[in-house]
Amino acid sequence: MMSNHHGKEFIGFMTTGPPIGMPEFLWMWIAAPKMKTDRLGRPWQAPYAMRKLEALLQDHGYNAAIIDPDHLHKHLDHAKILMLSHHDYFALCPPSSEWWLITKQEPVNARSFRRLMERPYIRRAKENGLKIVVGGPAGWQWLYRVDLWEKWGVDTVVDGEGERIILDLVKKVYSGEPLPRYVFIGPNDVPMIEEIPKIKHASINGLIEIMRGCPRRCKFCSVTLRPLRYIPLDMIEEEMLVNVREGVRGGILHSEDVLLYGAKGLRLNP
Ligand code: SF4
Repeated sequence: MMSNHHGKEFIGFMTTGPPIGMPEFLWMWIAAPKMKTDRLGRPWQAPYAMRKLEALLQDHGYNAAIIDPDHLHKHLDHAKILMLSHHDYFALCPPSSEWWLITKQEPVNARSFRRLMERPYIRRAKENGLKIVVGGPAGWQWLYRVDLWEKWGVDTVVDGEGERIILDLVKKVYSGEPLPRYVFIGPNDVPMIEEIPKIKHASINGLIEIMRGCPRRCKFCSVTLRPLRYIPLDMIEEEMLVNVREGVRGGILHSEDVLLYGAKGLRLNP
């Protein structure tokens, strides 16, 4: 589901529901139209967090690229690792879960992922030794679908910010060492600012992260346990320019609470 949702980020919320009142192909065209790619299947824009890991791996000399799922078959015969990310693998987050409950139909985000994992060329690549690592914002959901780790041949689930662990996992694959089945990135294991790379190519709708963590300290929240990191202004500007150079004409500044950028605790610092 590699899409910029017609350049309107919030249309993306339609992917959390099943098609209602129209055929699925039409719903998908409205909610998540395909973006242009190059001949290798590299999309014009890609999810920001994936861009971070792509940049990190390229900075360390790996031939890493984000590939539109519809073009994966071009690469899996010689790829060593397939890394997957998804905003809601199994439609367990709101509002997907509510849509599923109300309509009794599987939302399109979960069904498109299921179809991807059941494509024959992924199974064939697994049989030929491909390693599959899954993570991203919904990485935690795999703890509730352990049955699918086996069924779909997932080697490792990463739950949390990936910058520190991902190189270690890749090195293990290249050296033939066994991979851990599950990696939880705790508050002490997250990357510091200087370990976070700059994106090299455009992010979906020009989205750029301006801080990680959150100082509000809501008791139920795991984000607030992580160290608070403000992305420096020059890095934010450089990433905006990456997007501009690649033809993205708008931008989204992203954080858990944008107005708290640079705050001292909860005291605003305009
Ligand atoms: S991220 Fe949201 S829920 Fe978590 S501490 Fe901040 S305001 Fe609260």
